[in-house]
Amino acid sequence: MLQTVSLAELAHRFRSDLSHLEQVAAVYPCRISSYYAGLITAPHDPIWRQCVPSVEELDDTVQLPDPLDEERLSPVPGLIHRYPDRAVLLVSNRCATYCRFCMRKRKVGCSGGESDLPAAYAYIAATPQLRDIILSGGDPLMLPDDELHQILSTLRRIPHVEIIRIGSRIPVTNPSRITPALCRMLAEHHPLYLNTHFNHPMELTPEADQACSLLADAGIQLGNQTVLLKGVNDDSLTMQKLLTGLLRLRVRPYYLHQMDLVRGTAHFRTPLEQGRDLIGSLRGKISGMAIPHFVIDLPGGKGKVPVLPDSLHRDDNGWQVQTCSGEWVRYTDPV
Ligand SMILES: *Cc1c(COP(=O)(O)O)cnc(C)c1O
Ligand code: SF4
Repeated sequence: MLQTVSLAELAHRFRSDLSHLEQVAAVYPCRISSYYAGLITAPHDPIWRQCVPSVEELDDTVQLPDPLDEERLSPVPGLIHRYPDRAVLLVSNRCATYCRFCMRKRKVGCSGGESDLPAAYAYIAATPQLRDIILSGGDPLMLPDDELHQILSTLRRIPHVEIIRIGSRIPVTNPSRITPALCRMLAEHHPLYLNTHFNHPMELTPEADQACSLLADAGIQLGNQTVLLKGVNDDSLTMQKLLTGLLRLRVRPYYLHQMDLVRGTAHFRTPLEQGRDLIGSLRGKISGMAIPHFVIDLPGGKGKVPVLPDSLHRDDNGWQVQTCSGEWVRYTDPV
């Protein structure tokens, strides 16, 4: 059973009045696991900002609920097929903690819009170019082991499905859910990858470490997708601590995401050039293994594009390439 704390309990703990936030939670659901709430050290710290509702969520009425056009790209409810060889299957609508910046804020934790799993399996089976299925939601690890086992077994019976990825924030928000029994079950379905979602070094706890170790020991390749969040992790030092800490937890940083243009999340967004400069600032300072791709997921379902520091210029004599310390160096292709 997932233990959670209410806004009232949080208000009591921090001797503040949070009753005005109930109106936000009526629009965008609020749930905070006891474990994650326990990481809060003070109101408005990086953990608080990620999970406690803010009135600013309701100020944003301009952006779209679904800027990535996921609904249009779903051939059947709950299966998003945007790239030729891979698709996202939404298997759960719930999470252990609802992130205030969630890109699926329009649906996670809400009723309606359920996935049609039998239709999704039929579509995948009838689409031989699909070799990579990404289980997402919500959080797939909110499902009981046997239900997840069923989903994985069904996908594994489709011969052209080569790899399965799970996207889950459970190692961050409810690490005790990662049990030896769960890992044994998952290990029956290799090759299996799991991308988790750490955003701040305060999340790199002994409990999270233990959860990641269990998964890694089961042979599951661990990656991490971080969202660049204003007031949470939008400075180089915090990002360096997070990324190098992830390697210590045997998690390989995969993506750093520019915030999507999702309604209700504007107060988290940083300008695009800030992310580009931040990712540029990491090169040379920390292990290359720790540096993710900084990507923007373009509106209209146009897909993810890496955003790179502008380090390459062509001139009449060949190339000028900028080093991580800012020096321009000539490079000429041999003839
Ligand atoms: C992000 C995403 C994927 C996976 O993209 P990769 O770059 O392969 O990690 C697949 N489908 C959709 C709809 C996505 O948004
Ligand atoms: S865990 Fe993922 S799907 Fe769930 S609320 Fe957070 S960002 Fe959204």
